[in-house]
Amino acid sequence: MDDPPFLPPLDDHLNENTGSRAATVEDADDDPDASQDPEDEFVERFPVESRAGYPLRSCPSIYESHRIRLQAEDKEMWSPFESEGHWDLAKWLATSGVSQNKINSFLKLPVQDAKFPFSSARGLYKTIDTLPKGPEWKTSDIKVTGDRLTDDGAPEVETVELYFRNILECIQDIIGDPALKDDMKCAPCRVWSDETKTERFYSEMWTGDWWWETQMRLPQRSTIVPVIFATDKTNLSLFSGDKVAWPVYMTIGNLNKSTRRKVSRRAWRLVGYLPVAKLECFTTQEGRRVGGWELYHECMRQICEPLYSLGPESGGVEMACSDNKSRRIYPFVAVFTVDHPERCLIACCKDNYCPECEVDPKKREDPTPSKPRSRSCIELLDVFIQNPLSDTAELDRLGIRSIKNPFWRNLPVFHVYKAFPPDLLHQLHKGIFHSHLVPWICHILGEQEVDARFKCIPKHSTLRHFAKGILTISQWTGREAKEMEKVMVSVLGGERTELVVCARALLDFIYYSSFTQHSTETLELMQSSLAVFHDNKDVFVELGAREHFNFPKFHALIHFIDHIKRWGSLDGYNTEISERLHIEFAKVPYRRSNRKDHLRQQTLIMNRQEALHFWSNFIRWAQDNWRDVEEDDDADDADDASSEAGSDVAEIESTNATITIVDEEGSAVVQVKPEGEDDDAIRLS
Ligand SMILES: [Zn+2]
Repeated sequence: MDDPPFLPPLDDHLNENTGSRAATVEDADDDPDASQDPEDEFVERFPVESRAGYPLRSCPSIYESHRIRLQAEDKEMWSPFESEGHWDLAKWLATSGVSQNKINSFLKLPVQDAKFPFSSARGLYKTIDTLPKGPEWKTSDIKVTGDRLTDDGAPEVETVELYFRNILECIQDIIGDPALKDDMKCAPCRVWSDETKTERFYSEMWTGDWWWETQMRLPQRSTIVPVIFATDKTNLSLFSGDKVAWPVYMTIGNLNKSTRRKVSRRAWRLVGYLPVAKLECFTTQEGRRVGGWELYHECMRQICEPLYSLGPESGGVEMACSDNKSRRIYPFVAVFTVDHPERCLIACCKDNYCPECEVDPKKREDPTPSKPRSRSCIELLDVFIQNPLSDTAELDRLGIRSIKNPFWRNLPVFHVYKAFPPDLLHQLHKGIFHSHLVPWICHILGEQEVDARFKCIPKHSTLRHFAKGILTISQWTGREAKEMEKVMVSVLGGERTELVVCARALLDFIYYSSFTQHSTETLELMQSSLAVFHDNKDVFVELGAREHFNFPKFHALIHFIDHIKRWGSLDGYNTEISERLHIEFAKVPYRRSNRKDHLRQQTLIMNRQEALHFWSNFIRWAQDNWRDVEEDDDADDADDASSEAGSDVAEIESTNATITIVDEEGSAVVQVKPEGEDDDAIRLS
């Protein structure tokens, strides 16, 4: 049996002694990864004896499962539609934004094909609802007890609704999606410039330290699925801000970062809508704030619920992957791509403290790193939770918010203080550069002078020419900031040397941070740029542009390099993606709802969108892979033969895809059956 494209080579003997070796041309046929490794890189595979990312057994992909089911029921690939034409028309009507009334009018036109299987929009959607869907939505009522008293003297209780989906089903939905098959990796590796292993490269998540170190803690034949969360509040209505949604998106680090960045690849799943509650059961603003924090953690705890029991000792969960094989999956929450206030909310620290280290809020401009936050912070919180009357001096010193039940408290492997890779767009381009460096320079040179200098910069095909200067730009996006960064040093031409050196060092740091691949050398250069900035930054104070540099965005720069080593290059964790996902998963479905009880309608609309998208991909695949049952039998025979010839796959078993949770002894404790066999089934499509 062939290796799937995202697996390391299977050959034991090649790695017997060293646990690693260079990819060679001879490998390329067996291991497509090897052929993609550039010649000037040495890829150190994870020690082969651990079988990291290796499959357990054969298992039909979701497309295969549907093909087999349709053929067993003697149906065509278009089913439940009669023909390709009917499917195309249904898809167009359902996705083009035409209103239900217009669809009804269209279907009543006398030129319509009399055999059209539905006569109204209702019938159309009824048929679409029979297509295989993504994970189902469910709601949970969460009761928040306030300090306001009711007439009979009892504390007032406010009930809010959390909309969410089973996160394991969402993971299964992504890892089993054949449309994403070629963009996934299942095992970590370390990439070096050559076999001497002195110069290391960091790019994708699987090249970073976290994945390698976490894989070391797992048993043989385990596959890590790092869960990446993105959450951010957004306004739903265009012209008024009264309707706010708080979506929680997730994807997996097994997908490469360029796929994760494209909304059209559907690498992300909406896993929940957090309630945006007014919490009027509290009498004070402070009460509402604390109540809001507790509510956030309770909601995230419910969303993460299926993951708490899947630690390194658990045996993991078996999932059907997109390459017709199943693997033992360990889904670990890895990172959150969120803004600073939400980082502090998650890490239970006050807004003016660093969620990553114990730096004194008055000394955040100090270039020397402070002690990283660690388990001791969590233990302090535990002491306070058990005894709210205990001394809080140490909690106060570390800026810890006394949240009773942080959702990450028992989340396996998750390290909350290391889970926030920097956000290039908001922290650097729109933050350090646009909100800080540009105003400082404008203060020193004068706005009009800076504006005039931007206008004077000669035109060049790779540069944006600011013909009207920068003062007339009304809407600043990351794009404007990035274009200004390119010419900022030339704007400073002729100014004081320290000023030019300092601004240039900061710009260098921004550019290095934006690299899509880092090496040991570029990280050293990044570090020295930051040092040059610190050595010269007093020039901004001298010239009156700043009084100090004691603010969170500036302090955060000292953590950038650690994050790159841990998670890979930072372009994989931009919060820009949340803004694009909001359009697809919140704003458009909201506009298509009737605005009443809108979350329920939005989830229904999104379920249909997912079903249509899935079925489009399935039809495209089925057109090339629709084969008779007899051909399947022949193929099975061939598979059996390859098994006997010494395949590494444990056993070949063609069954419907199932999710099995295995306990420590390896026996199944929960078996979730395919759709149709059990009401509580975890659906695979
Ligand atoms: Zn810090």
